[in-house]
Amino acid sequence: MDPLSSPWAAVSVVVLALFAGIAALTLLRQRDRIVRQAAELAGDVETLNDRLWALADSEEHYRSLIEAQGDLIVRRDGARIVYANGAYAALLGLGEAEIVGSLAQPRLVACRPALALDGGARVFDECLATPEGERWISWVETVVPVTLGRTVLQRVGRDITARIAGEQELVEARARAEGANEAKSRFLATVSHEFRTPLNGILGMADLLGDTGLDPEQATYVRALRTSGEALLGLVDDILDFAKVEAGKLELANERFDLGLLVETVSELMAPRAQAKGIELAAHLAPGLPTHLVGDRDRLRQILLNLVGNAIKFTDDGGVGIRIGRDAGLIAIEVADTGPGIPEDRRQAIFEEFEQADNSAARRHEGTGLGLAIVRRLAVLMGGSVGVEARQGGGSLFRVSLPLPVAVEAAVPALPDWCSKHVLVVSDAPFGPGFLRETIAAAGGIATLAADAEEAMARLRGGVSYDAALVDQAIGRDAAIALAGEIRAAGLVDCLIMLSPLERRQFGSPREAGFTGFLVKPVRARSLYERLSPRPAPVAPVVEASSVHPQRASRQRLSVLVAEDNEINALLATRTLERFNCAPVWARDGREALAAIEAGLNGAGPSFDLVLLDIRMPELDGLAVARAVRTMERDRVGPDQVPLPLVAVSANVAEGDRAAALAAGMNDCLAKPLDRAALQRWLDRVALPGAFRLNAPSPLRRSFVAIL
Ligand code: ADP
Repeated sequence: MDPLSSPWAAVSVVVLALFAGIAALTLLRQRDRIVRQAAELAGDVETLNDRLWALADSEEHYRSLIEAQGDLIVRRDGARIVYANGAYAALLGLGEAEIVGSLAQPRLVACRPALALDGGARVFDECLATPEGERWISWVETVVPVTLGRTVLQRVGRDITARIAGEQELVEARARAEGANEAKSRFLATVSHEFRTPLNGILGMADLLGDTGLDPEQATYVRALRTSGEALLGLVDDILDFAKVEAGKLELANERFDLGLLVETVSELMAPRAQAKGIELAAHLAPGLPTHLVGDRDRLRQILLNLVGNAIKFTDDGGVGIRIGRDAGLIAIEVADTGPGIPEDRRQAIFEEFEQADNSAARRHEGTGLGLAIVRRLAVLMGGSVGVEARQGGGSLFRVSLPLPVAVEAAVPALPDWCSKHVLVVSDAPFGPGFLRETIAAAGGIATLAADAEEAMARLRGGVSYDAALVDQAIGRDAAIALAGEIRAAGLVDCLIMLSPLERRQFGSPREAGFTGFLVKPVRARSLYERLSPRPAPVAPVVEASSVHPQRASRQRLSVLVAEDNEINALLATRTLERFNCAPVWARDGREALAAIEAGLNGAGPSFDLVLLDIRMPELDGLAVARAVRTMERDRVGPDQVPLPLVAVSANVAEGDRAAALAAGMNDCLAKPLDRAALQRWLDRVALPGAFRLNAPSPLRRSFVAIL
């Protein structure tokens, strides 16, 4: 049988055809899937391509931004550069392509200390040698992670060469300006110092001329000469002081000084000016203030003189009050006046140099505008401050606060017990009565103030029983005398008249005028307490120490050597000494002075009671003379002998000069122009009977030296 014609064959063909159909169908399906996937892949590739473009674009964008900024960027793995931008490559003079993978480093010229920032970054400036010269780069250095936990060190730097050069220029310009300023101050100091010498001569000669029996017209001219000279000297002194403070040359002394004495000196010096203007000058130390402080007495006096001088200069009516107290551990100085006051908008400026409250050409008062600048600088130098405010009732109130320590063993003056003592104070002065009230209250007493005789009478009749009355002669001489009669009649124990030193001379006898005594203005607390405290027996009126010179009249003729190279100064000193009944001997330089002293010591020439030594002299200066004299004394004279009093005289008593004079063996250092009072004090000291002749030593002379 034909196999193909069997039924089995037909079935097989059908099955085969079926399989073939299925296979074809499957293939068709797979082709469709592949076509679909191919289309999807093509889409993905498209997207990736777009992203790649975007990334490349973005990278280009940032790269151009970085390059445009000009910052230097470098990344190093160890010392090897793994990335550097064009700016960094240019810094090294390399191309971008050659720098990556290299160990290239710029040469370090200088660097500044690094600063660590939060987050571990460091900031530092380096000066690097580059092909274009030295450049300063300010770096920020950070550690940045890269792949697989690895890190590289990245530095981003900015060229700050121009800034550094600017800073350097500023430093140099500042140094130049400071140098010029110092030179200016040195120049001013030198010039004003040179001005002083001839000026002292003019003033001294005017003084001497004034004592030669001139007619009234001539005396007026001499007074004018003296006043103008003094004004000029004041200006020169201001400039000199200012220059010294400016040049930082001012050394502050740190010595124990008597506060009361200081205020008295200032009042005494300034009182004539106040009197000449017919205004009050009152001074007051707050009760409980220690007697002695530690600081620079001379500079403090200068502060006071400037403030008080200004106050008197600008006040035409009323007066000036100086009050010293303590406030929060500081010494509080107040100088108040009843003058025109200072406009609020000028109260800061006037402490600047060359500034005046009224800068207009029409201003009435002379001055350099340096006084307050000096005051402020001195106060600041002492660790304190100064300011001005309007005084209640009109005028100005200058306040200075200084941290001056209380001296060891300083006493607080004892107060009398004036419990229930009632004192009537008759005065119309603006400051004195208030100060007296404070002084009286501190002792426990009560002060009642009356501005004139009428008011005083009303008070006396008012039923209060007073123990004492203080009457200011400023209410009028006749009114004061008439009032004294009423006060006596009212049965008061004490009735004192208050007089200024000038009035004291003119007033006549206070007792004859009906008073029990007098007080000199500005009234010191001590004098008041002494005068009004119960005394065992009636005492003579208090005579202020400054108005008496016990040794002057009876002094023996002292022999004084004046060593001075300037002829005019020498003439001045010798004439002044002659006035004081001394026998002066002039030596033109240090060598001549030493020879004269040596002759005196050897008995080959006159011996001297006192030697005034100019510090600056040709041949041998004053210090060298003093040292030689002290050596001579040690070698030739026994240990019991008391040294010859040697007093330095200097045109410019800076603290350094004084210290050098004392170190050279001198006993004191006086300023030129020779202050008559200071000279007189020395003469009084050496004139103590039989005490100071070198060849006739005595215990007195020893004690005198001990107190120097
Ligand atoms: P000078 O007095 O030489 O002008 P100062 O520095 O001492 O310079 O004072 C500066 C200015 O401050 C003065 O010119 C004046 O205008 C003002 N002044 C100072 N003290 C007083 C005062 N007590 N009353 C009014 N004005 C004053």
